[in-house]
Amino acid sequence: MIQEQIQALTTLLPEYVQLVAVSKTKPIEDIQIAYNAGQRVFGENKAQELVEKQSVLPKDILWHFIGHLQTNKVKYIAPFVHLIHSIDSEKILIEVNKEAKKNNRTISCLLQFHIAQEESKFGFSFEEVKEMIESERFIQYSNIQIIGIMGMASFTENEELIREEFQTLHDYFHVLKSHYFKFNTEFKEISMGMSGDYKIAIEQGSTMIRLGSTIFGSR
Ligand SMILES: *Cc1c(COP(=O)(O)O)cnc(C)c1O
Repeated sequence: MIQEQIQALTTLLPEYVQLVAVSKTKPIEDIQIAYNAGQRVFGENKAQELVEKQSVLPKDILWHFIGHLQTNKVKYIAPFVHLIHSIDSEKILIEVNKEAKKNNRTISCLLQFHIAQEESKFGFSFEEVKEMIESERFIQYSNIQIIGIMGMASFTENEELIREEFQTLHDYFHVLKSHYFKFNTEFKEISMGMSGDYKIAIEQGSTMIRLGSTIFGSR
């Protein structure tokens, strides 16, 4: 099942769309099956769970952090995390920069935007990001590299709403790219799309989809 899903997705997805296998709550054995099927990029949303899994699984796995990150947890993942999708405040960005420096690393990050209608989802507004990037503080964050943006659409059956929200995220990407990252070739990722909405996300220009239940079954 897991193996078949990985193979089907690998064949189906356009080559410019990266598949992040979201393995949160799933056991080591499931991740190993996906790994044996060729999957190397995995996403987790809890620092402690990520650290435990990373310590026992193959070292060439690229671990992505996709959940809301608390400042006091950054130190645990900073030595090895490959990409943090969920930078949702300047406070967390500062902490990631600090821990990256301690580890002598540059950590790749995505800025998470709030695009959904639900109150509960974390993320920046466009104005907040603009203010942060234009501030003099921003250049001090030299141990992080912003390689794109991330967002989650509303949890709804309304496909038109989902499409509009992903389109908004895509628009944000283009405005940021042309204003602030024009000559930065690393700034190129739009992480959008989960099991329920990844097809719409790809239509709207996603470069990274985060799939859990499609690959591993329901949680
Ligand atoms: C759990 C999770 C996913 C994967 O969700 P599925 O619906 O199982 O594909 C993707 N992104 C984030 C941020 C998540 O927390």
